Amino acid sequence: MGSFVYEALPMRVVFGPGALASLRTETERLGLRRVTVLSTPGQRGLADRAAALLGALAVDVFAGARMHVPVATVAAAAEAVRAADADGCVAVGGGSTVGLAKALALRHGLPFVAVPTTYAGSEMTPIWGLTENARKQTGRDRAVLPRTVLYDPELTLKLPVPVSVTSGLNAMAHAVEALYAPDGSPVVAAMAEQGVRDLAAALPELTRGPEDLDARTAALQGAWLCGACLGTTTMGLHHKLAHVLGGLLDLPHADTHAVILPYVAAFNLPSAPDARAALARALGGDAAADKDPTRALARLAERLGAPRTLRELGVRHEDLRRVADEVLAAPYANPRPVGRAELDGLLERAWSGT
Ligand code: NAD
Repeated sequence: MGSFVYEALPMRVVFGPGALASLRTETERLGLRRVTVLSTPGQRGLADRAAALLGALAVDVFAGARMHVPVATVAAAAEAVRAADADGCVAVGGGSTVGLAKALALRHGLPFVAVPTTYAGSEMTPIWGLTENARKQTGRDRAVLPRTVLYDPELTLKLPVPVSVTSGLNAMAHAVEALYAPDGSPVVAAMAEQGVRDLAAALPELTRGPEDLDARTAALQGAWLCGACLGTTTMGLHHKLAHVLGGLLDLPHADTHAVILPYVAAFNLPSAPDARAALARALGGDAAADKDPTRALARLAERLGAPRTLRELGVRHEDLRRVADEVLAAPYANPRPVGRAELDGLLERAWSGT
């Protein structure tokens, strides 16, 4: 990595247990006077709590965020914002809620504060998505970045363990691919290695004690770092595969990432020695893992009880061909060339769990 370009993204990050208490001062700091609080229907209670903390600054709560940002949801939220005469938003929730705030920023120029409650990492990226007529369109635009991100691990204490596990492995996948991205840098490599280290240590603790605040804090810190990697690098085969599997077969986002992570790592890491060494350090602990980060990843997923095969997620064997066709149809960055035979082999292994 002799030469590189690194472009920092300009978000302010406020991190720590209890950080939600600073929501009002952080929102005022941006010059916002009237905000709409956004959430999913399931997180309405938390949205109301955020609105109470904001006091007179909160003029409305829109608890209609949905997975994959349907354009109809964006239109309804934009109408609510207009009716309330809001000058910005506070998005409290996971990737779906942050995704809605991003769409409002993109289409209506509304600034927002993000308060993430999962490990998806969307708040650290300029990537937006919008779904219309069952097709998800995505793009990159700095206009969709939150102005401030407030990470409060206390808000993640009730995140169900299975979601914590798959969401955490999804975050790790961002870091793994950032380590061999064509636009990597020493800053990204350091963030990726630490992000994987934090999550690998925290996730097993969380399966034992979901309300362990220290483990929740480490996991959220790891998720932040991994999200920052996703925001500043170009992703490879893993993210391409996850995107195609999700889009074509409507698979759950984080579960799909969790399943394919060890298989893509096994395929790519032999061609990415620096990434392999960084992951061995981050996942280290026993001698075997030191030597083989791919096996360490697979063992971690197994210990966490994550879904392990595409078959378990409901993929039919005959679907694999369509997936491979679509992956091969569009080019993407990857440290190891991927042809039909290699991809068929990888999908076969991820399907059957070999
Ligand atoms: P999500 O936001 O859909 O949340 C999943 C469910 O968990 C929701 O019902 C939500 O109400 C609930 N939930 C969230 N936090 C909770 C908590 N702390 N306690 C209890 N329940 C909680 O899921 P996600 O995995 O965060 O986000 C997935 C979406 O984000 C996908 O659409 C994906 O494409 C997108 N995403 C985008 C980017 C990007 O850079 N643009 C990055 C990662 C993910």
